[in-house]
Amino acid sequence: MEEGRDPDVRLGRVGATASAAAECEVLVIGGGTTGVGVARDAAMRGFSVILVERGDLATGTTGRFHGLLHSGGRYAVKDPQAARECIGENVILRRIASDCIEDTGGLFVTTPIDNPDYADRFVVACQDTGIPVEEIPVAEALRREPRLNPRITRAFVVPDATIDAWKTVWTCARSATDYGARILPYHEVITVTRDGDRVTGIVASRPDGGQVQIRAQVTVNAAGAWGGRIAALAGCQVQISPGKGIMVAANHRLVQTVVNRCEMPADGDILVPIRTVSVIGTTDIPTEDPDHWEITRAEINQMLESGENLVPGFAAGRMMRVWGGVRPLFQDDAPAETRDVTRAHAVLDHRKRDGVAGFLTITGGKLCTFRLMAQDVVDAVCIVLGTTRASRTADEPLPDSQGHHFYQLGSRLAEREASLLDEQLICECELVRRGRLEAEMGRRPAPSLDDLRRALRLGMGPCQGGFCMFRATGILHQMKHLSAAEADQALMAFLEERWKGVYPLLHSDQLRQAWLDDWIFQGVLDVEHLPQAAPAQPQGTEPPQTQPQETEPQETPTGRAT
Ligand SMILES: Cc1cc2nc3c(=O)[nH]c(=O)nc-3n(C[C@H](O)[C@H](O)[C@H](O)COP(=O)(O)OP(=O)(O)OC[C@H]3O[C@@H](n4cnc5c(N)ncnc54)[C@H](O)[C@@H]3O)c2cc1C
Repeated sequence: MEEGRDPDVRLGRVGATASAAAECEVLVIGGGTTGVGVARDAAMRGFSVILVERGDLATGTTGRFHGLLHSGGRYAVKDPQAARECIGENVILRRIASDCIEDTGGLFVTTPIDNPDYADRFVVACQDTGIPVEEIPVAEALRREPRLNPRITRAFVVPDATIDAWKTVWTCARSATDYGARILPYHEVITVTRDGDRVTGIVASRPDGGQVQIRAQVTVNAAGAWGGRIAALAGCQVQISPGKGIMVAANHRLVQTVVNRCEMPADGDILVPIRTVSVIGTTDIPTEDPDHWEITRAEINQMLESGENLVPGFAAGRMMRVWGGVRPLFQDDAPAETRDVTRAHAVLDHRKRDGVAGFLTITGGKLCTFRLMAQDVVDAVCIVLGTTRASRTADEPLPDSQGHHFYQLGSRLAEREASLLDEQLICECELVRRGRLEAEMGRRPAPSLDDLRRALRLGMGPCQGGFCMFRATGILHQMKHLSAAEADQALMAFLEERWKGVYPLLHSDQLRQAWLDDWIFQGVLDVEHLPQAAPAQPQGTEPPQTQPQETEPQETPTGRAT
């Protein structure tokens, strides 16, 4: 590998100069599960690797998904290829990423609104695609899940589970850097450089306002729903049909098992228990622009009604938050309905498609198939580079998963109880200790409070930051030597992001909570009238070298949606 001219790039930090350069064999665009999976696989095969991501890692669709490690049952009838990929990867991820997974198990239930004939087709399709499936008596299903709709007529057990996307991404990134990869968050690709018919790398903007040029022998486009745009920068065409979906979190764990309707995939047909909450989702609406879309009242009502069908009384419960994400659905001839697009993935070699060498796109797929997607595209990289190197990601566990222990609900509480009086608690809802918060702040050059939220779950509980965020802001101010105006700005930015996901759901107890938060921030602190600096530029970070992140994907804000 030729070293870059800016040594700081290697460390994933911002260089001191306004422009910098680096070189690698494999350049990866996109820091979601797919991108970090590619970076890890390629680095493990001995390639020199750089990954660029325009925001923090996992701020794209990965950080906005539904939390489900699919068994494949959902796709068994409609999309057998996707179902086979899901069950294959389900088995592998349980082995290599156990620390990121809670083994909740899954149920498919025939509810009063489902076609009763579907269940028999479902069983046959599961058997055909290799998904373990077992019918259990309805009484047994209701014993396991007492809040389930008592009018269900059939119930099937499958190996669904939940997977923590943020933990998965951070631990993959950490493993990739252990193998020598360089991970550059807050680096946005603005140009894909070409020499005639060959892609030679990229130019990316840096968080300090400068730019970095990265030359690569092969560039892999893993930009998810933004993949079409990256391809266009290279003069290639990739038809992505972004499919927007929303999810609503109730502040209790109403079920302990992932519960699916036993029916063709539809809206609002899965209830996922994630940590202490339950998440109903999702919708699937074609959208033009993955950066600009809205969550409508009708969609929220649809989710509440869907939850009611699975768990009577759901809609009257305390709803904590709504958010959404955009699926990177790929099909050469885009159909009208995005649910008709296969959930299987595709590797595109642009030399064959567009006559442009040195450029590959990995697209489609699911979060739970990210490892396979990475393996397939790095196999294609090997072909382009004329070498044969086998993938080892199916066998080598991720850091923190060597012990093959699944995540257990309550582990954070157990840790806290062991040292109850030793340390200040900053976030009561999520049990975030001061030491842990300071360690995370120390690891990042200039973290936003939202970056800290993703890393630690800070402010993600029922009070949505009401009690912890002024404390966290004070600590950030002290540790990072912010001016008062900069600290005010950081707090306001966080509150505005949180508010987007809270206000569409305000009623009952959550409305009382929001009113209390408002008294704290407006009544006591008068945040809107504090002097504020211009928005701070978040800066790069290295994947954590310390403890695994206790994070959860479901609470990300609606982002750029309104
Ligand atoms: C509502 C919803 C629910 C879902 N639920 C599930 C589920 O339960 N289980 C499951 O397995 N899958 C689920 N999925 C699918 C899954 O979330 C996605 O397939 C997966 O997260 C895609 O990951 P990715 O890395 O390919 O894309 P992303 O996570 O979107 O990563 C692409 C990255 O590219 C970056 N990028 C874009 N432009 C640039 C640029 N110019 N320069 C640098 N970086 C750039 C983006 O910031 C982004 O971080 C769901 C999807 C949606 C929308």
